[in-house]
Amino acid sequence: MNTLFNTDVGLLGGVGEKTKDLLRKLGVPSLGALLYYFPRGYEDWTDIKKVSQVNFKDDVCIKAVVISGVKIIKLGAKRTLYKALATDGEENMEITFFNNKYVVEKLQEGNELLLYGKVQKNFNKYEMVCPKMCVKGKEPKCLRPVYSQINGLYSWKIESIVASGLRYAKGRLCESLPERILAENNLCKLEFALENIHFPQNKESLNIARERLVFEEIFIWQIGMRFLKMGICVKTEVKLKKDYTDEFYFSLPFFPTNAQKKAILECIKDIRSSAERCMNRLLQGDVGSGKTVVAGALAYNIIKNGYQAAIMVPTEILANQHCETFKKIFSGMHINIELLTGSLKSKAQKEIRESIKEGKIDLLVGTHSLISESVEFKNLGLVVTDEQHRFGVGQRARLVSKGNNPHVLVMSATPIPRSLSLIIYGDMDISILDERPPNRQPVDTFVIDSAKKERMYGFIKKVLENKNQGYVVCPCAKESEAENLLDVKNYKEELLKKHGFSKYSLEILHGKMKSQEKEKIMKDFLGGKIDLLICTTVIEVGVDVPNACIIIIENAERFGLSQLHQLRGRVGRGKGKSYCILVSDSKSKDSISRFKVMATSNDGFYLSNEDLKIRGPGEFLGSRQHGNINFKLVNIIEDISTIKKISRVADQIFRNWDSISLDERSIIEKSVKNFFKSGNQENIII
Ligand code: ADP
Ligand code: MG
Repeated sequence: MNTLFNTDVGLLGGVGEKTKDLLRKLGVPSLGALLYYFPRGYEDWTDIKKVSQVNFKDDVCIKAVVISGVKIIKLGAKRTLYKALATDGEENMEITFFNNKYVVEKLQEGNELLLYGKVQKNFNKYEMVCPKMCVKGKEPKCLRPVYSQINGLYSWKIESIVASGLRYAKGRLCESLPERILAENNLCKLEFALENIHFPQNKESLNIARERLVFEEIFIWQIGMRFLKMGICVKTEVKLKKDYTDEFYFSLPFFPTNAQKKAILECIKDIRSSAERCMNRLLQGDVGSGKTVVAGALAYNIIKNGYQAAIMVPTEILANQHCETFKKIFSGMHINIELLTGSLKSKAQKEIRESIKEGKIDLLVGTHSLISESVEFKNLGLVVTDEQHRFGVGQRARLVSKGNNPHVLVMSATPIPRSLSLIIYGDMDISILDERPPNRQPVDTFVIDSAKKERMYGFIKKVLENKNQGYVVCPCAKESEAENLLDVKNYKEELLKKHGFSKYSLEILHGKMKSQEKEKIMKDFLGGKIDLLICTTVIEVGVDVPNACIIIIENAERFGLSQLHQLRGRVGRGKGKSYCILVSDSKSKDSISRFKVMATSNDGFYLSNEDLKIRGPGEFLGSRQHGNINFKLVNIIEDISTIKKISRVADQIFRNWDSISLDERSIIEKSVKNFFKSGNQENIII
């Protein structure tokens, strides 16, 4: 199967070098990828509609007779318009083409035509512009595939390449799923499925084909996820002999919430379980729910039991802050904490690396420099990744590989709808912090346009007078000529010079500053020396300054819903009332609906569901937040019950892996390999 699957598409008839390059651009270098390049839709030439019934957004098929033959209108040297009038028996409709002399013959009076495309209505007149056109009797008799195309490689061309690919593979395709699984789940054979997903005999055979391929996609994905997990999560020697959780609670300046206690208990149970398996757990909690405490409790337990712990975070600012937080919590407890980031001088880095290797450092906090090859631990027992959506599985796996199968906790501030977490996290165990620390009030969110900014400045001053602090987030660090967006530098100048902020302490913070500068500013802000921090989204993840209680987000239309929520999560972390003001002059429907959702809810889970609705799963998953998972057929929202059903089948197979036949195993393993080859494994996050 592998060799057939990997056959170069260039070997197919009609595929020259140029086409081959274009196919590669589409992600189709091999016969296997070609056969799995499914149509994005189908033209149905048998479902004939009347002009008056159609939905103007849809592509439809219309049968019409030409009643007034083609008129040729020259619009200049290079543009010619061809127009004819036709009737479907009830309504008249204009048919228009540009620069296409081949239509003349078909658009003769009296000809009966089938037209495929969108119908428009302009000033009460129906019109089809550049439809596909067949003389009656010559139309395709079945569903015709429509492929996503690129310049130079159009759907009809792909169609013919796929057809020759199918001919090439006929009779030689090996099954991608074991026979038994096909039979038990009532699924058709691969050859039938591939033929009919591309060239369905009829709608029923398309459904049968689709059902089989959806099954395959989910099943193989789910098994693949479990393989991935197996690679990371096997037996471990790291054990807790004694539970130090109560001692840790005693060191906290507050009482843990019930949700925190429950999550910590779940983790400790995993780690102490007699199965001696690694913990592999995801902790989901909305911004401000107190995830750091959970990480702290586990680190404390692991360290007290004689191991090292590592916490990896996506930004230096956050690494610094976590390091400070843990130093405070663990002060006087003889725990050695160090920070390792890329911006440390190489001599300092070297020293830290040596201490880690010798086991002198108990808790290492850092950015992705933790996974660089030169970092070796003496006995790493726990790996925590905070704000996991910033890391791919490859990065995390590399950190894990540094220990002798350490336990793994992955913390996520972006709540993912359950339907998605099921897919993204495979069978990772999940703990949820569904409770905020006490005395928290929801953040009040307002949306204003720039005309009301003067009033907003007044409001900010009132907050600052009250000895509270605030953030202003601008989309840019520096002025850019290309776009009319606010930047932190000018914003600060304007506040000082034009809006009467000179008696307050203002600072700017953005990603392009030197890390020492950033560090100092964050420290000063945390220490209350800065009243208002004018910054870019560098503060987006994790930053925790409880005294900050107002955040202004300028050009709010530039940010997605989850990102707005993350930014808003920087306030509302203390006892006082907090405010979030979104400033935007955008009239776009999408932005307005995002703002509305922000103003009505503080609940991250609700918001991410809404985000999913507004952006669609493709973009939601495709964004930097979740790596790059692209399903070809499965719609994560619509197919959720199917996904659950098939996940259960996958789970059963996986549990009984050792007892299924070698043949069956090798079929599944090959399919998993092919599946992950076509995706981007580095980016898959578990
Ligand atoms: P997250 O990482 O989930 O966004 P943090 O761990 O940064 O949240 O916690 C947010 C703030 O809440 C911090 O200032 C932290 O000290 C505080 N906090 C956490 N747990 C509690 C608790 N049980 N009671 C009071 N304050 C808490
Ligand atoms: Mg956090």
